[in-house]
Amino acid sequence: MFIMSEDSQRTQGRDAQSSNIMAGKAVAEAVRTTLGPRGMDKMLVDSGGEVVITNDGATILNEMDIEHPAAQMIVEVSESQEEEVGDGTTTAAVIAGNLLGEAEDLIEQDVHATTIVEGYHEASEIALEAIAEQVNEADVDDDILKQVGESSMTGKGTGGLTAESLAETVVEAIRHVETDDGVARDNVAVHTQIGASSNATELVPGIVIDEEPAHSSMPREVEDASIAVLDVELGVRTGDIDAEYAIDSIDQLNTAIDAEESEVRGYAEAVAESGADVVFTTEDVDDRVSSYLAGEGILVFENIGNSDARDIVSATGARRVGALEDLEEADFGAADRIRAENYGDDDLAFVEGGAAAETVTVFVRGGTEHVVDELERAIGDALDVVATALASGEVVPGAGATEIAIADKIREEAAGIEGRKQLAVTAFADAIDIVPRTLAANTGQDPIDALVDLRAAHESEGRAGLITTGEDVTIDDPFEHGVVDPADVKREAIESATEAATMIVRIDDIIAAE
Ligand code: ADP
Ligand code: MG
Repeated sequence: MFIMSEDSQRTQGRDAQSSNIMAGKAVAEAVRTTLGPRGMDKMLVDSGGEVVITNDGATILNEMDIEHPAAQMIVEVSESQEEEVGDGTTTAAVIAGNLLGEAEDLIEQDVHATTIVEGYHEASEIALEAIAEQVNEADVDDDILKQVGESSMTGKGTGGLTAESLAETVVEAIRHVETDDGVARDNVAVHTQIGASSNATELVPGIVIDEEPAHSSMPREVEDASIAVLDVELGVRTGDIDAEYAIDSIDQLNTAIDAEESEVRGYAEAVAESGADVVFTTEDVDDRVSSYLAGEGILVFENIGNSDARDIVSATGARRVGALEDLEEADFGAADRIRAENYGDDDLAFVEGGAAAETVTVFVRGGTEHVVDELERAIGDALDVVATALASGEVVPGAGATEIAIADKIREEAAGIEGRKQLAVTAFADAIDIVPRTLAANTGQDPIDALVDLRAAHESEGRAGLITTGEDVTIDDPFEHGVVDPADVKREAIESATEAATMIVRIDDIIAAE
């Protein structure tokens, strides 16, 4: 009896399991070589020829346009990792893929899917306990925060800037937005400016937008600014110009021109009289209005984007006004300084100080488009991990040390677990080994030798990671070398990888409509 359309495809039993597992593994395999300080980059070219060069797991998987539904679930692991904690996206995908690989072996040994799922869940609980045991005892101070930021950027394409100097700026930015209620991560923006001239990072106490003054003779800097943010066209509305006038004498023409002139002057005077020194409007400003306002010493930015308008409003406390006659002093926002700066072909407006300084912008100059794009991602990750570490006050050793400790604890506890579930618990530990193994492989070491040495060092010293410093690779305590990751990044990776892998393993019937 057929209950489905003849066109739909159905794969069942082991075939379904192994097809899903293979797809999931393939995704993890795709990002494996980018893991760690010596991870390589990928160049992704889309059908339109757009090129993205990146080392970031989430970005790679996102750009890869993956269709297979099980593979898509691994992509989601890295997406949720990015959303929740901002880093560890490659780690999470690689662990998920290896959990699937280990599950495949178990299925071949006739371990039932539900036993695998139970074992994996139990092992992930042990993993979380192991992470808790690895958490630092010392308070998370600025030094540790810098190490967290630097560890997340080591080996990333940061152009001519060192991870160390960037980490310093990142920590300063996060400290700036720390409040009694936590860390207002959203109040930190990143603005990168392409330009070969110099590599420099600066923390702007406020926001930076891509705009230039509406008129060349306007002031380029205004102190103690009263800021109006308008959604008003300052000029004769385009609609009016299209209207037809029946003009049949010079007098009538002159009258029409005078009427327009006085309308335009009216706008200019209304703005000037309002008392604003700086005006941002999302609409056009007539040249005659700009020229008049320039004469009055007022700085105007026209046609600003909606999101820029929103940023200015939230930074300066201004209220957006939709009609000039409604504009009053209470609508003004404030900033200590607004300045227009020119960088080669680009003009930027800086809104700084006063109320605006509640937000900060990491302003980075240098490099080409591809460099600044990757730099922006690296700084974004660093801001996220520093915010995460500061919020929870918990960091763990990086460089594979935490994973070695997790696998060790799981193997220890597996001994007390009865039946076939023990196999699944042990398999989970084997899957976690992928992190130190991959770090070793990506630094040109033999993964098996490295794993054996790391386990031995963990046994005798307690904390052992595969530390990469410049050209050297050594086994040592990562805390001693400032290689640290937020505990939450590790937790999230374990949880989201377990969730996706167990979900995929449980599927034994794939029904696909044509
Ligand atoms: P992810 O997308 O998972 O964050 P990364 O490519 O950023 O992947 O690599 C993160 C891993 O690199 C973490 O396990 C981190 O501890 C490790 N790591 C960072 N710096 C070093 C270092 N100097 N030596 C060894 N490992 C490092
Ligand atoms: Mg990272």
